[in-house]
Amino acid sequence: MPTPPEGLIPPGRVTGRAGAQTNTAIADDRRLLAALSLHEKVLLLTGADSWSTQGAELLGLRPMILSDGPAGARGVILDERHPSTSLPCPSALGATWDPELVRELAAALGAEARSKGIHALLGPTVNLMRTPLGGRGFECFSEDPALAAAIAVGFVRGLQGAGVAATVKHYVGNDSETQRWSYDARIAERVLRELYLVPFEACVRDADAALVMAAYNKVNGTPMTESGRLLKDVLKGEWGFGGVVTSDWHAARSTTATALATLDLSMPGPDGPWGESLARAVADGVVTEEVLDDKVIRLLGLARRVGALRRPEAAGTARQHNGAGPDGQHHQPTPVRLIDPVLLRRATAASLVLLSNAGQALPLREQDISRLAVLGPGAVRPTIQGGGSAVVAPAALSTPAIALASRLAGMAEVTVAEGCQIWVTVPEPAPGSLRDPVTGEPGLHLEFLDADRTLLRTEHRTSTALAWWDGVPPGIGWGEGGSIVLRALFRPAISGPHLLGAAGVGHLTLTVDGEVVADRPTVVPDDPVEAMTRPGQVRAGLDLRADQEVQVRIEFRPAADGEGPLAVRFGIVPALDAGAMLAAAVESASQADAAIVVVGSANLTESEGFDRPGLDLPGHQDELVRRVAAVNPLTIVVVNSGMPVLMPWADDVAAVIQAWLPGQAMGDALADVLFGDAEPGGRLPVTIPAAESDCPVLHAAPADGVLEYTEGLLIGYRGYDAKGTMPRFPFGHGLGYTTWDYEVIHEVTGDQLPGRDLHLRVVVRNTGSRPGREVVQAYLAGQPGDASRPVRVLAAFGIATAAPGQSAEVALRIPARAFAQWDEDRAGWVWPPGPFTVLVGRSSRDLRLSLPVVSA
Ligand code: BGC
Repeated sequence: MPTPPEGLIPPGRVTGRAGAQTNTAIADDRRLLAALSLHEKVLLLTGADSWSTQGAELLGLRPMILSDGPAGARGVILDERHPSTSLPCPSALGATWDPELVRELAAALGAEARSKGIHALLGPTVNLMRTPLGGRGFECFSEDPALAAAIAVGFVRGLQGAGVAATVKHYVGNDSETQRWSYDARIAERVLRELYLVPFEACVRDADAALVMAAYNKVNGTPMTESGRLLKDVLKGEWGFGGVVTSDWHAARSTTATALATLDLSMPGPDGPWGESLARAVADGVVTEEVLDDKVIRLLGLARRVGALRRPEAAGTARQHNGAGPDGQHHQPTPVRLIDPVLLRRATAASLVLLSNAGQALPLREQDISRLAVLGPGAVRPTIQGGGSAVVAPAALSTPAIALASRLAGMAEVTVAEGCQIWVTVPEPAPGSLRDPVTGEPGLHLEFLDADRTLLRTEHRTSTALAWWDGVPPGIGWGEGGSIVLRALFRPAISGPHLLGAAGVGHLTLTVDGEVVADRPTVVPDDPVEAMTRPGQVRAGLDLRADQEVQVRIEFRPAADGEGPLAVRFGIVPALDAGAMLAAAVESASQADAAIVVVGSANLTESEGFDRPGLDLPGHQDELVRRVAAVNPLTIVVVNSGMPVLMPWADDVAAVIQAWLPGQAMGDALADVLFGDAEPGGRLPVTIPAAESDCPVLHAAPADGVLEYTEGLLIGYRGYDAKGTMPRFPFGHGLGYTTWDYEVIHEVTGDQLPGRDLHLRVVVRNTGSRPGREVVQAYLAGQPGDASRPVRVLAAFGIATAAPGQSAEVALRIPARAFAQWDEDRAGWVWPPGPFTVLVGRSSRDLRLSLPVVSA
């Protein structure tokens, strides 16, 4: 890598190969290492705080900022004053089956992250969707390793091309959340190699990922942060990973075992199991200084790659630690470069999957619609992102109700009805209904009090969902016994019963017009992240009059001592009658030309920190769909969930679109797709089951701390194929707006197996009346009845676009590895002779062409 003579290495892109050092860099590193004492070396290896590494001004090493995450660049602060573009969730990106589009989007994400001073993003998540119950399934790309790998490689390349390091996580076996800190995933070596390690290996070998995050869980008895075999031997040894292995947050829980396993960075800091304990271990000879030096060199290499290493002569002008100025406030370099909304909208539309379209109900034609009913909880209050560390404060929000009303403005009447409520915590008050009692501006007044009830600081805020990842903000000086107070004037839109709710881990006192209406503690959850994602709630019923303002005061005394994640939020909504809500939606549907029903996950259904209890839609949403479909034949259901839900009504409605947790562009992208301005380009990256009992893996709960991966290779569609079960919608399925003929498959290179890639060309023809995009999928099948392999596995895919009547040729490369098996006795890949069959088609269950492949 060329090194500029002075100053920062330009951060245009994450330059250089991890580990592939130039002579200049090697000489520099030696010089830097020699300048460091043992104490200074260990200091560098633990974070400086929650989100930054230690800097060393003497060396010209700046602190590096690490920030979540996989669906947006949050930055070090999570609040509405520091908004971020909220991207489609990773399962939606998987649904694009388009690594190039994902690369383009990740490049824009990288630019946004860079503009926020972020050096490394904590993503992508490349664990596999082993069970649809997995709380973080929405954060994964697919149930299939080849698809997950291809999308992840696009993501890493895009991000790193924009100068931000990618952190591939969570290495490995973190495929569900229950007891995630400690469970022992028992996974056979062959299954690790052929499934769970595949996307990690691809990110390292094909995309040169800069960081890998070691997971909380154990694999086969060893905590991942201590797994010398998987970190040192496999990741660094076999795959040649030259970057930095960071721990997941607080996942490093020992000194020497983690150090010797070649964990490089313990996050967060400044405390942790290393520090002086590690220096002592080196002094005692338990850990050699070379082991330590290797970690430091990797960290310097990372700093060099992201432009955080200055030449010594330029040092001294480094930014304050963690981007914080002398006032302790975080100062972001301005301006923040949010992602181009046009790109975001296009990518979101490309991730929507048209699951069914009876009688070509879609796209809708404006001239046929004089009244459109937009229904369902997600129409008004969509769930645009999953919970946990992937959360960002969205920079904007287009809801289906607002986007469709504006799409049809002046052309048709749009009626909106929620139909039912599915929220878990009482939602935020309607926009415009709150005023800060001090400033009179829209929003609320926030106060920090110490234990003596001295007012330490106040803020004006516009969101009622407030969160601090690292305890209260710096500079507050708040400690045990203090409290946080939210005050607002609330103006109800309608008269009648209302529900007030406040959530936080600690004690909550709710006061309305000076009268205490609720006062009690909430439960302290096991997983600290739950303090952010689903803190307990205290509720009170109120009887309010339209337009008559009431003073609301929420006092929150956190159970925590001021460190760790903290959240407090409050909401107020009219307490509506469930029967009346349903009836209003049905009535509205019965009078409309078409009904769009947006159903899906509630805000706390899918999250880090816990798994889903089941696959049913929450609340009365199934009933809502059934009743609407009974009165309107043009009922289009939009499913707003990051992972599969059961769709027992799927055959009774005109069309179903899987819309994922689509990020802030949801409404606009949906309007584009419904009216045919864009094709719903997605294909399923995960199987949608007809019944829960059909799922190959339907447990996430460890037994006695152990999660046995007894299903072996048979997760997702492989499990359905092995049992011959018909899913509701198979892996790879998605209709788009045109039809395709699969005409011919050519073998470009043949008879070269084993150990060689196979190149194919497939010709498809657009037989419909609209231009379209087709995802051509190639599956590899072994000999029928060969119990040692899945029936067939995705081996390659490519995208065809063609005008009506036109054909398109797609080049596919089936990598040699697709034909191989991991041999546990030989501890290596072997290439069984075959014969194999390549099957090409539209989904794992709609295969149109086949080609026998004979190995040499
Ligand atoms: C999550 C990681 C995340 C980290 C920092 C952990 O709890 O597992 O995915 O990057 O927190 O927020």
